[in-house]
Amino acid sequence: MDYPASYSPSRLHHQAMRALTPELRFDGGDVAVWQRKLRRRLVRLLGDLPETRVALRPRRLWRREHPLGTIEKIVFTSERHVDVPAYVCLPAAAKPPYPFMIALQGHSTGMHNSIGVQFEDETQPKAVEGDRDFGIGCMRRGIAALCIEQRAFGERRERLQQAVSTHPCHDAAMHSLMLGRTLIGERVYDVDRAIDYLHTRDDVDRGRIGVMGNSGGGTISLFAAAVLPRLAFAMPSCYFCTFQASIMSIYHCADNYVPGLLKVAEMPDIMGLFAPRPVVIVAGREDPIFPLKGVRQGFRDLRRIYAACGAEQHCHLVVGAGGHRFYAEEAWPSMLKEIRTRPAAR
Ligand SMILES: [Zn+2]
Repeated sequence: MDYPASYSPSRLHHQAMRALTPELRFDGGDVAVWQRKLRRRLVRLLGDLPETRVALRPRRLWRREHPLGTIEKIVFTSERHVDVPAYVCLPAAAKPPYPFMIALQGHSTGMHNSIGVQFEDETQPKAVEGDRDFGIGCMRRGIAALCIEQRAFGERRERLQQAVSTHPCHDAAMHSLMLGRTLIGERVYDVDRAIDYLHTRDDVDRGRIGVMGNSGGGTISLFAAAVLPRLAFAMPSCYFCTFQASIMSIYHCADNYVPGLLKVAEMPDIMGLFAPRPVVIVAGREDPIFPLKGVRQGFRDLRRIYAACGAEQHCHLVVGAGGHRFYAEEAWPSMLKEIRTRPAAR
């Protein structure tokens, strides 16, 4: 039987979306004034976060030599009741203080992919597809990496609650909403605390800390870049698009949603909060969930924001020939050039 289109919820949602002009879209005026306004709004929309920062209490779990350098596994406290495990990858080919990339996995078995080892036994190597071994990719290029486990992924997957969804983020994303939080806000907070952790180390070039990740790691790379002033570089992969063409038109996990956000801004505006700092947007020509047409459309808007800052040359888009994955060979040359032309500072 045929049912009327008006029975489908998306009928209204798509009409409403098309009729909407987000309140704080960049309008070509003073960029700095616009950024301050939108950033303040965005921070509010990302939900409640602790007012005071707890002690990080970093603990080292192990340290191992690797053909490309040294890898340490650590854990630090992000907020009360919340600990974050991470790998610190130090390249043999460079000397401290190192530029650092904070590397974020998306929906996968977790951060062990960043260093190419098994989940259960980190002494055993694992072949990682789609260039998602971010820590190894950094070390190979003389860059240090802090590969953190994101909330609800890998080692931080829900294990206390008895009945959970089969999808790793669903419960955490929904529960955070009921508490006036968002999972995006919570994950960005972990990145902020990861920067705090890097600032406790004496081998870190504090002026050259960046963020990168694919898919759900690209999401948090983008939002972290938008609100965290201590980040100098961003390389979000297979996430940047327009909300209209992707998040609002194609099935995505609940951890992608921020209540009311589309009334305020589109995705290029969120990324535009990072201008004039260098960004390398990575996309896949065949990515079915972040369609290239939307990526290019969003990128045109993003370029306009960078141009208004006189920083068009720091706004890069690289498109890989395949699907939803990272493209190291295509992406790194632009990022390395940006990192190397920015003077080292402690
Ligand atoms: Zn998810």
